[in-house]
Amino acid sequence: MDEILKLETDLCDVPSEREFASSMVMPSLLVLALALFIAFSVTWYTTKGYEPQIHSQALRTSIILPLLIVPVCTSVIAIQSHRNHKRMLAVAELARTDEMTGLANRRAFMHAASTTLDETDLNYAGLSMFIVDLDHFKQVNDVYGHETGDEVLIHAANQIVRAASGNSIVARLGGEEFAVLVSYKTVAELHQRAEAIRHQVAATPCQHQGVSINVSASIGVCILHPRDTVSSALSRADNALYEAKDQGRNRFVVAA
Ligand code: GH3
Ligand code: MG
Ligand code: MG
Repeated sequence: MDEILKLETDLCDVPSEREFASSMVMPSLLVLALALFIAFSVTWYTTKGYEPQIHSQALRTSIILPLLIVPVCTSVIAIQSHRNHKRMLAVAELARTDEMTGLANRRAFMHAASTTLDETDLNYAGLSMFIVDLDHFKQVNDVYGHETGDEVLIHAANQIVRAASGNSIVARLGGEEFAVLVSYKTVAELHQRAEAIRHQVAATPCQHQGVSINVSASIGVCILHPRDTVSSALSRADNALYEAKDQGRNRFVVAA
């Protein structure tokens, strides 16, 4: 289990192209310095009894050869490592992304949310977690079929992204359920953000083969406290979501 968690963390933490490139510079310089040192020392000791001309010629060669060979070798290794790194980035991207909507998936969300939580002092900054669940979505599948249901789901995901502000993290937790991590300044602003998402989904039907398909969403909102973890916040947001469903759907409820 720990191994899987570590792999998930590693996949979320693959260094960027720039970080990778700069991490190659130091080892390459070290290898070059080491090669120069060894070649020079060995040549010095093995040719020190020779004629001065031969001795200095050998020393020159001992410097020129590593300067030519080492950069070529490290470049070949760097090109191969770069290819592997690009593959790793692609795998990491796949591991973080929900295939259908292109949003972050649950794994990426949990990772990003816990990083944000670690970096945020909740005594001074506001952080909130929304769980957005589409209402009566089973009916959409029943009436229009699963494939059209997929289209409606993607459309709704796009509306949530559109309504969530730029610095929010939006993810598909699974099924027809999404999570949004929102930083806010005032509770009034937070309510506006939840209402904006609710409104955007409800007011923007999905157009499918000349038919408008309406869906709405219920939202459970949790305001994070300093002692919260991602799991505890998700659990309270989930309770608030159930309350929103109980109260008739197409609304948001803030967890107590
Ligand atoms: P509620 O308002 O209580 O949330 O009702 P609901 O019908 O949305 O909830 P329920 O949990 O009963 O059903 C969820 C539905 O979402 C059933 C499932 O087929 C559908 N669903 C989940 N994931 C997908 C998906 O990827 N594509 C499609 N087309 N449907 C999905
Ligand atoms: Mg639902
Ligand atoms: Mg659901």
